[in-house]
Amino acid sequence: MDEMAADGNEREDGSPDAEWRRERRMRPGVEREYHGDGFVVTWEPRLCIHASECFRNLPGVFRPWDRPWVRVEQGSAEDIEAVVALCPDAALKFERTPPAPED
Ligand code: SF4
Repeated sequence: MDEMAADGNEREDGSPDAEWRRERRMRPGVEREYHGDGFVVTWEPRLCIHASECFRNLPGVFRPWDRPWVRVEQGSAEDIEAVVALCPDAALKFERTPPAPED
């Protein structure tokens, strides 16, 4: 049986599907970044073991059937941080970021 990855794409050989490759890679060593207000969520698909904690606990934010699949604007920083902490293999990470400078 094929695996269903967090990004919602079936994989036969464990290799990433081309669909998520279309999301922008933001910095070396981190596959994907999703910026919220005062925080950033990163996702490294090679570490994702498809445990589904993210989309079972916060389905409005973690939406494997959509692109981008992480919608940080759909949840509070506190809720997202709590659910990211459930990710069993640290495929998801949460970092606070400094506030944007005011004009
Ligand atoms: S909780 Fe982490 S390991 Fe589980 S599906 Fe989500 S990103 Fe992947």
